[in-house]
Amino acid sequence: MAIDWDSVRDEVTGFLRDLLRMDTTNPPGNEIACAEYIANVLKREGIEPTLRSSEPGRGNVTARLPGGESPTLMLLGHTDVVAVEPDKWKHPPFSGALIDGEIWGRGALDMKDMVAAELMVFILLKREGVSLNRDVIYAATADEEGGKGNHGIGWLIDHHLEQVDADHILTEGGGGRSEIGGARFITIGTGQKGIFRFRLRATGRPGHGSVPHEENAVVRLAKAVAAIGEAVLPIHPSATLKAYLEGIAAQQDGETASALLDILDPDKSEAALDRAPFGDDAVATLRALLRNTVSPTILEAGTKLTVIPGEAVAWLDGRLAPGQDERSFRKEIGPMLGDHVTLEVDQYSPPIEASIESPLYETIVNVMADHDPDVTVIPAITTGGTDAKHILPRRPDTQVLGFMPVQSEPNTDEGPLVHGHNERISVENLLYGTRVLYDVVTRFCSS
Ligand SMILES: [Zn+2]
Repeated sequence: MAIDWDSVRDEVTGFLRDLLRMDTTNPPGNEIACAEYIANVLKREGIEPTLRSSEPGRGNVTARLPGGESPTLMLLGHTDVVAVEPDKWKHPPFSGALIDGEIWGRGALDMKDMVAAELMVFILLKREGVSLNRDVIYAATADEEGGKGNHGIGWLIDHHLEQVDADHILTEGGGGRSEIGGARFITIGTGQKGIFRFRLRATGRPGHGSVPHEENAVVRLAKAVAAIGEAVLPIHPSATLKAYLEGIAAQQDGETASALLDILDPDKSEAALDRAPFGDDAVATLRALLRNTVSPTILEAGTKLTVIPGEAVAWLDGRLAPGQDERSFRKEIGPMLGDHVTLEVDQYSPPIEASIESPLYETIVNVMADHDPDVTVIPAITTGGTDAKHILPRRPDTQVLGFMPVQSEPNTDEGPLVHGHNERISVENLLYGTRVLYDVVTRFCSS
């Protein structure tokens, strides 16, 4: 029997509204509320869930539909959300309010929408008795938004790998739409930049402020911070970025296309960014995606106005382009440190990039061609992060793709909704994402 998508719309809307009513602001997270809710939904469908807490309150729920021998697919979502400023919201952020066809709440786009849609898809596979060529895992996990994120999918991989041993993973980080030069595009998230957060520690000779000398730690640090902060580091275009720009260029007139392709050329990149058909924000993002970047963010030095300190420290937020690592990055910034300044690593996670030639990527392209023949699928890298950062360092061969497709981009005149105020999703976009994901999963996994 054909699926009744009208009743699916109501059902998945109900899942999302229920999940949004649970305050899973991280920290502290308290994702156990969502995990128990989802476990109960699965049980009602005759699917046995496994619920594990990495710490009290940090609940992770998974379930598995057994299939054939082909490489396993996991539908992965995180249930924690970032903090809110409730007084800036038009409707309370943990209300799950349904108003004029839109579902309101923190997490409506990041990413309880996809947690609900993937749950719906997973249940439909069971209800429809879809014969699977591979195991399909559902996982709703904790702690993606936390700084180090040690309580979610990474913890499950470390402690209960048998629950989450997937080769292909679908999660957040793609599915957004754009229109460039009259042509329409939808993204699949294939990667993210690496993280390299570090301290610079300058040492010098302490002294009295009334007698200046040339071994002042504050001056040494300031020089290094200014040099690194102002540097425009060399570009390292990734396979994703090439495919992204080539994919857009193929739909443009000759002049625009050449501007887009020139962005990949080290000698022409900067000038080409000015000619490319992107707004200021998109250009700034592209500029950052092309290369390693560093932003100085915290300074610590001295406690008394009249005393030259013997030491000064700066904290810097570094991000690595795909293909880069600690060594190549140190080579770029090392010459700017100067004497008496040392670099100490605070946090490192490598850049991540999935292949655009994987069978799952190809399946998404084919499914989108059915749903929307005029849209071009392009891969995209985010400057931010997804759970891929907890997976790839542990399981380097996993193909993690970000794809929660929308039918239309939300209106963001009031500023970004993800991590911003008034986060919400239209019921139509939620249903669209659910339908497309169902087709992707059934096409990829049907035997
Ligand atoms: Zn997220």
